[in-house]
Amino acid sequence: MALPIASPAQVSTQVSTQASADRLQSGNGAERARSGEPGAWRMPDGAALVRCPLCRGALSHVPDMPEHVRHKSARRAAQCVLSTARYQPDELVVNGSRNAVISAMNRRRFLEDWARHYLAMQATWPSLVIARFVTVLACADVLDLWSYAELREADVPAVLLVLAGFMRVPDEDAFAPPRVRGLVSDEARWVRFWFGANVREAADLWKPQDTPAALFRVDYRDAKSTPFPTGNEVLACTRVGDASDLWHRQPATSMLSVTADERRAVAQYVARSREYRLE
Ligand SMILES: [Zn+2]
Repeated sequence: MALPIASPAQVSTQVSTQASADRLQSGNGAERARSGEPGAWRMPDGAALVRCPLCRGALSHVPDMPEHVRHKSARRAAQCVLSTARYQPDELVVNGSRNAVISAMNRRRFLEDWARHYLAMQATWPSLVIARFVTVLACADVLDLWSYAELREADVPAVLLVLAGFMRVPDEDAFAPPRVRGLVSDEARWVRFWFGANVREAADLWKPQDTPAALFRVDYRDAKSTPFPTGNEVLACTRVGDASDLWHRQPATSMLSVTADERRAVAQYVARSREYRLE
């Protein structure tokens, strides 16, 4: 029996549900006073930017706030994920070939090397846990990410981080890798990864482009009136690197290590998915 196909909206709900669970588990972070300017965010090296990397809209700099930028156009500001009032901005479109042979081949190859992908993602977002990783794999299965004939292994960790949606920043008193706190500001309560303006759907990663696809991490403060942050809560946007950099930055083979519990979680996911798939 084939896995039931859900719409991206349903998948988004699944991811959001996971994020909701994260939020509940993490407790109620204290509301922080809003800093900065409405519609503005910090962009390292922002002084050199004239166009928004996520929507290509023209940017202006905020007086007396180094590295802070905002969109010049109100229409752009309403649409771009960095400033929209929507908490469910347009997701990455995944629309593969639905070719079962290609899908099975790509998925099998991924699963043979899942630990490398997991550790490459963790090197970029250290608080990624195995439960979230498995949830994102289930999401990729439903979207049939694996059925792209052009799928490039080196881009998969970045695609999975983007599909992970909003991820909670661990509270300072929670058990969390200390490296996370060094990555984001004290105000940050959520992060989300986005591709740059030239990647609207996964297929764009494998088309000839003038510039390589870039991955960005956006840091958000807590939202007061929406379930998830909007552009109004954006604190900073940081270019992580080219989409394939995550794969190439992964630890050396001798440093690769995943725990027995992590292996067990992935084995259980594979066993569950076999009940629905003919491979
Ligand atoms: Zn923009």
